[in-house]
Amino acid sequence: MTADHDESPRDAGSVDELERRVRDLKVLQAFAATLLDYHGGIDEVLWDVAQQAVAKLDLEDCVIYVVDEDRGDLVQRAAFGPKNPREREILNPIRIPMGQGIVGSVAATGRVEMVEDTTLDPRYIRDDQMRYSELAVPIFNDGRVIGVIDSEHTRRGFFTEWHRDLLVAIAAMAAGRIASARLETQRRRLATRDSLTGLMNRSELLNLLQQRLDHASSTVVVIFLDLDHFGVINDSLSHLAGDELLAQVGQRISAHMPAGGMAARFGGDEFVAVLDGDLVAGRREAEALLAAITRVFDSGAVAGLHVGCSAGVAVGLAGNSASDLLHQADLAMYEAKRSGRGQVKVHDSRLAAMRRREQRLVVDMLRAVERRDPAIHAHFQPIHGIPDRRMVAVEALARWRHPEFGAVGPLEFIAAAERTGNIQPLGRHVLRDTFKHMAVWARLRPDLTLNINISPLQVQQDGFALQLLELLEEVGLPASRVACEVTESALLGDDRRAAQVLGALVREGIRLVLDDFGTGFASLATLTSHPFTGVKIDRGFVRDLSSSQASRAIVRSVVVLARDLGLSCTAEGVEHPEQMRILQEMGCPMAQGRGLCDALPPADLQARLSGP
Ligand code: C2E
Ligand code: CA
Ligand code: CA
Repeated sequence: MTADHDESPRDAGSVDELERRVRDLKVLQAFAATLLDYHGGIDEVLWDVAQQAVAKLDLEDCVIYVVDEDRGDLVQRAAFGPKNPREREILNPIRIPMGQGIVGSVAATGRVEMVEDTTLDPRYIRDDQMRYSELAVPIFNDGRVIGVIDSEHTRRGFFTEWHRDLLVAIAAMAAGRIASARLETQRRRLATRDSLTGLMNRSELLNLLQQRLDHASSTVVVIFLDLDHFGVINDSLSHLAGDELLAQVGQRISAHMPAGGMAARFGGDEFVAVLDGDLVAGRREAEALLAAITRVFDSGAVAGLHVGCSAGVAVGLAGNSASDLLHQADLAMYEAKRSGRGQVKVHDSRLAAMRRREQRLVVDMLRAVERRDPAIHAHFQPIHGIPDRRMVAVEALARWRHPEFGAVGPLEFIAAAERTGNIQPLGRHVLRDTFKHMAVWARLRPDLTLNINISPLQVQQDGFALQLLELLEEVGLPASRVACEVTESALLGDDRRAAQVLGALVREGIRLVLDDFGTGFASLATLTSHPFTGVKIDRGFVRDLSSSQASRAIVRSVVVLARDLGLSCTAEGVEHPEQMRILQEMGCPMAQGRGLCDALPPADLQARLSGP
């Protein structure tokens, strides 16, 4: 009857109705504003939605569930009601299997459920308090249910179509926000997880370890794990089986982690575990982890196989850097590998400093050798005849004046080169320098010979004899002017290989001297089973000549033995005239040592040779 009627012809048409619609729109607008506010995390946004739904729709409670695709059920993400008026965080979320209860059936069917009397609905699951009516609406995204909004009420028949329509509209608005949060979760998962094992990846572990160290109230243990010979196993298996092996190792590690621990795969066959505790606990855990990892596999393509593993342990305190700590655990793991694998080593700062120095030395040495840097060169120590003291030979001794560390001894840098497989370039460099000088002196003194030291690994190297002969030819030094000094340990490893190399050298006219005689294990046997032309009595015996009867007895026997076998014989490390006197008395033909002359730079030696 009034004009108002005609203005909205679609409506049953009352001012009340219009006002109600405007009110509803305002409610929805408020939700839209909440949902558009992307600053909060998803759980906070959902909590706001639940809280506003209760306030605006006059509900008793509101709970929002989200589908967990990994586990195939629903997990409670937000709840507002008398029980939790404030807590935005749900510590122990309720989980509901698909199809179970009213909420589960909404998720399974995608249909809204409005139950007027829950006592008549067998699906109703009573919580702590009996509620007599319930409204549950699905949240859709791309045609699939991704969640459910649920509300219960203590009064029968409380929910109306109005409630239903508004909640459906709210669900539709929340859908986009939930979907993008799920995408974000997946994206984070990809960025922080190792896809093969599901463990964390390197960068995530580094982040979390740093956070833990920043807030640590006690010590934190880092265990660095590396499978032994995984490359060999991987090559002999299919690619798939190799992956499966890594995945199973990952499972064993994560199954083994105590509460609060975390584990990561660093790529390849490297894994890292982090847990609270001290060094003792760390070692114990690392040993237990090794035992778990190396058990025979009992399923899948790797059933019946097993894999070895080495571990390094380091312990950090609040304020330490995560990457330093990881590096320490890595170094300790490297020590475990060096000591024969399959074991646990704990980080040791002195040992680590030694390794760092070794690594630095090797890098610098390779560079120096590469550019033929004279910082690495030979000094020469004369060997004298007894009793005339005439210089009959010189022994070349490698020297290195390091730009930063100063003089580095040959024992150190030769051992470093050997351990890292770099003895060949170093040996070549020193021999080239040595031969260059000797070629000049050979012309000055036709009776002078050169002794060079050959390390155990050099002897066993293919092509070593050839390389040496080439270098001699390069400078025009006859092989007959050179003697190689080798220690017994050079002959211990691959005995036949060493014998071949030494045999080849001797056939070319090079002499062979057994160095440090008396310190080995089977000296006499060694002496006769290789074509030696001489021995050098170890300086340990020479040192004790005047004080120890045993040393005197040994030196005397060696001198006699050498004479009877037709070998030359040199006493090393002669420092005092008394030692010279005893050696002369025993009939030892040659001596070398600081008491006679120290090792000299080539220019000084040359001066002596051309002098009177
Ligand atoms: P080595 O073959 O037994 O060499 C003799 C070592 O005794 C040298 O030490 C020498 O400086 C030292 N020495 C000389 N006179 C005396 C003395 O009166 N008393 C004492 N206590 N020592 C004396 P250096 O030069 O430090 O060499 C150590 C070892 O390094 C050598 O032991 C040798 O095994 C190895 N080495 C040196 N140069 C080379 C090289 O060019 N190649 C290889 N493969 N090894 C080398
Ligand atoms: Ca020597
Ligand atoms: Ca020696």
